Amino acid sequence: MLYIVLVLVLAALGLLVTALITASSLWAWVSIGLSVLAGLILVADWLRRRRRAAASAVPPAPAVTAPEEPAEEEQTTLIPASGDLGDPADTPEPPAGDASPEDETTADPEPEVEETPEADVAVLADLEDEVVVVDEHPRYHLRTCPWLGTRDTIPIGVGEARQLGFTPCARCTPNATLVAAHR
Ligand SMILES: [Zn+2]
Repeated sequence: MLYIVLVLVLAALGLLVTALITASSLWAWVSIGLSVLAGLILVADWLRRRRRAAASAVPPAPAVTAPEEPAEEEQTTLIPASGDLGDPADTPEPPAGDASPEDETTADPEPEVEETPEADVAVLADLEDEVVVVDEHPRYHLRTCPWLGTRDTIPIGVGEARQLGFTPCARCTPNATLVAAHR
């Protein structure tokens, strides 16, 4: 690429000399044209190098993306992990109370979804009783649920939890308990 530019510049110089010797302005104009062409090639080459350098460079500085992260974390706090929302039959219920506290996060699977009668669902929508959820888990529980163990819980109204897509835990049956207390 730079070789072409060199040739163009030399040609322009030669034509300029020719123009001076022959006193013909035509050669001077051709010389200027060649110089401009050489300049354009140089700019194009520079742009291409810069793009290649940008592509191979390290990703943008973390300072640009850092401010967005806290907001995102806050938003995900109360949204259940969508991957765990599937068919409750996929997660068999283990025998209750056999998990030791130290391996609960790996060995204690998500409880099944509590079955809730249609009539109870209507009642629950208006209830503001507090249940608790655990970050990145799809079930909501009563505070006394044995599955919670030492997990960090987030208190939330049962109506709001349901709106956000959380499902009731089959172990502590928050729906049945809250509806029974309400009646
Ligand atoms: Zn529970």
